[in-house]
Amino acid sequence: MTQPVQPIFILPEGTQRNSGKNAQRNNIMAAKLVAETVRTTLGPKGMDKMLVDSLGDVTVTNDGVTILEEMSIEHPTAKMIVEIARTQEDEVGDGTTTAVVIAGELLKKAEELLDMEIHPSVIVKGYRIAAEKAQVILNNISETVSEKDIELLKKIAATAMTGKGTGSNKDNLADIVVLSVLQVMDKENGLITIDKDDIKLEKKVGENIEETQLVQGIVLDKERVHSNMPKTVKNAKTALLDCPIEIKNTETDAKIQITDPSQMQAFLDMEEKMLKDMIDKIVSAGANVVFCQKGIDDIAQHFLAKKGIYAIRRVKKSDMEKLSKATNANIISNLDDLSQKDLGKAGIVHGKKIGDEEMTFVEECINPKAVTILIRGSTEHVIDEVNRAMTDSIGDVIAGLKIGKVVAGAGSTEIEVARNLRHYAESLSGREQLAVRAFAETMEIIPRTLAENSGLDPINVLTELKSAHDKGKKWAGIDVFSGKVIDAWKAGVIEPLKVKTQAISSASEVATMILRIDDVIASGPAEKHNIPMPETQEQ
Ligand code: ADP
Ligand code: MG
Repeated sequence: MTQPVQPIFILPEGTQRNSGKNAQRNNIMAAKLVAETVRTTLGPKGMDKMLVDSLGDVTVTNDGVTILEEMSIEHPTAKMIVEIARTQEDEVGDGTTTAVVIAGELLKKAEELLDMEIHPSVIVKGYRIAAEKAQVILNNISETVSEKDIELLKKIAATAMTGKGTGSNKDNLADIVVLSVLQVMDKENGLITIDKDDIKLEKKVGENIEETQLVQGIVLDKERVHSNMPKTVKNAKTALLDCPIEIKNTETDAKIQITDPSQMQAFLDMEEKMLKDMIDKIVSAGANVVFCQKGIDDIAQHFLAKKGIYAIRRVKKSDMEKLSKATNANIISNLDDLSQKDLGKAGIVHGKKIGDEEMTFVEECINPKAVTILIRGSTEHVIDEVNRAMTDSIGDVIAGLKIGKVVAGAGSTEIEVARNLRHYAESLSGREQLAVRAFAETMEIIPRTLAENSGLDPINVLTELKSAHDKGKKWAGIDVFSGKVIDAWKAGVIEPLKVKTQAISSASEVATMILRIDDVIASGPAEKHNIPMPETQEQ
């Protein structure tokens, strides 16, 4: 007698499961879709995307990570690809599209190998070997850069900005980027440290990109709270407060009953006195400039103005930190604690009209590392895109200096890596060799995409590039404007080595991770479990 087979459920109801080849193909498809989306934006001739969020706000951009983040992608595998862009953004600041495109192509090539019945674990192994070898090749072909190579640094800065809405102002902006990075750089025993947060980017709509300037100090998009305050304070002693100069914000709701007008007056007088006491504390500490992270009461503003103190309110927390570093001041949370030693110093603090509005400039700071790039442009969208271009550019110059190594762009590096990898693959046996070759071919997606996005014939371009590299021209790249093969190094298309090493390592890590998944188990939406099961209606 055979036992009847009972179905066994190990997963809760509503769980979706997708396993084996099906899961793999699905995941690869999702990753390829993400890569395909950003692919058209790669390079100086790449197109832009217009993103409209749920509130109707519009972003026009060419920046990989911005596009992917604004898209609010939901597919779990697609999200893993977005992560690559984020890592790239955090580690370098540039090369986000490159990283995602490489990951997508690695998976596309893996799919072809899967079709040839090659086991995923073999592909994963081959990819890992190739990724490691690629790092070695990249290191070998790179050139050195130091803080003394100003011209080279400017080329790195300009390359990062090409095609990102900076137009003919690229060189001017590149100068600003290099100057600001060098200013915040620290070098001790040959070790370079640079904190990109030391460079403040401030945007103000108006004028042209051309008017973008480097300010020695901190610029805040805030004006004096009271027009009777001095417009300029020399030898500024700055107090940084993260408490309000107000008294209404009591913790508990108090109720006062007033029965006759004299009581009302007494109450107001008391309030005024409390505010005056607060201002007295600021005055006796010796401050002549106040940066307040919270609000400043109207009456307090009046008292501050009477004492000749320059004050601004609702300063962003991140700006308070920058001010603290720049003027060497302590941020104080309780006015009672404020004393002379907490104050910072700046040569001059002044309100300056930029466009229609006044901004506060804190200049000649005691810490010379305080710099602000004040970005100008005709519209909000233009400025935002320039801002992103500048961030990429700053990231690239920093990455170049920190590692001290650079390579040429325009697809030259990728072709050189591919050529070396193919050569290396010959030393391997059988199936792994196929995977390493696939990895090598993947590298060619970058020059191919650059060509495609420029309206050139990718096959012709790749053939020409490969033959130039075979002749030993390691920096042969593609001139996206003329379609000709050029020496990318001589043409000044220079990128930090780190953009390439990071892009390849994170792309291959995620691609191999995705390839090793053979089961996707997704639990149903969380709310479902809370819904009581309806009673079954008996008929
Ligand atoms: P990513 O987000 O990956 O940085 P970009 O749109 O910035 O994407 O494009 C970077 C690619 O464009 C790199 O491969 C770089 O070498 C190439 N590139 C930049 N400037 C030029 C140029 N003047 N000529 C050809 N290629 C360029
Ligand atoms: Mg870029």
